[in-house]
Amino acid sequence: MKYVGAHVSASGGVENAPVNAANIGANAFALFTKNQKQWSAPPLSQESINLFRERCSQLGFVPDAILPHDSYLINLGHPQQEGLGKSRAAFIDEMSRCSQLGLNRLNFHPGSHLKEISETECLRRVAESINIALDKTKGVCAVIENTAGQGSNVGYRFEHLAEIVSQVEDKSRVGVCIDTCHSFAAGYDLKEASAGSSLFSEEEAGDGFERVFSEFDKIVGFKYLKGMHLNDAKKGVGSKIDRHESLGTGEIGMSVFEKIMKDSRFDGIPLILETPDPEIWSKEIAFLRGIE
Ligand SMILES: [Zn+2]
Ligand SMILES: [Zn+2]
Repeated sequence: MKYVGAHVSASGGVENAPVNAANIGANAFALFTKNQKQWSAPPLSQESINLFRERCSQLGFVPDAILPHDSYLINLGHPQQEGLGKSRAAFIDEMSRCSQLGLNRLNFHPGSHLKEISETECLRRVAESINIALDKTKGVCAVIENTAGQGSNVGYRFEHLAEIVSQVEDKSRVGVCIDTCHSFAAGYDLKEASAGSSLFSEEEAGDGFERVFSEFDKIVGFKYLKGMHLNDAKKGVGSKIDRHESLGTGEIGMSVFEKIMKDSRFDGIPLILETPDPEIWSKEIAFLRGIE
């Protein structure tokens, strides 16, 4: 079974997110559990928590189909103590909010070295941050998202994700989220077709989609895949530019998303659109859910 949705608005309260998701025909969704541009937020009210839980069950959203995203300010690999401490405290708060809402995963971008420390040291700090947060919270899995490699962000190679996972003590509470746009921008050519080349037979040339995901399976492992972000990409493969596009209108193209929908390795996890036009989310979702 495929869970398909979008990163919907939670404005006015987290309890509005499931309603917004149901309105676009989704059976999955992503949300921010607090204002993503601010460090601190008032705690969730008991009323909000109850309504959120009630609405999710009424509207048929199971925890495995919900992928909350943390604040963009958080940098779990921060090179300086102050920034690192602030990020760790905010991340623990986000994990606790997910737990209060009955959710089982929190999606986040691993971090940035800000050109002050090596990538290896940055990845070590991210893993240490996750270990601290898992120790202080219960029931929520830390879901590391791959990045486009823009600026000094780590996480643009599958090896980076594997490196973090390997240093996390509780493997049952760590996972990854693969964003198709980020993968493509980072140089993983998901759409590279085998057909059309006269130099190779179809088998020899292989298929970009299959090659990328068999590499993912070898390096990270599908058992760690806890969510996907389905975004087309505005820029070409390897651009390192994180600019999303509506499905089928960017450089990746619709066939990659069709392949995901037909592939059982992507069953049972939230498949989330972060495409730029909310007006067509219902169309994009209907299209995807029609393929399965
Ligand atoms: Zn994403
Ligand atoms: Zn992005």
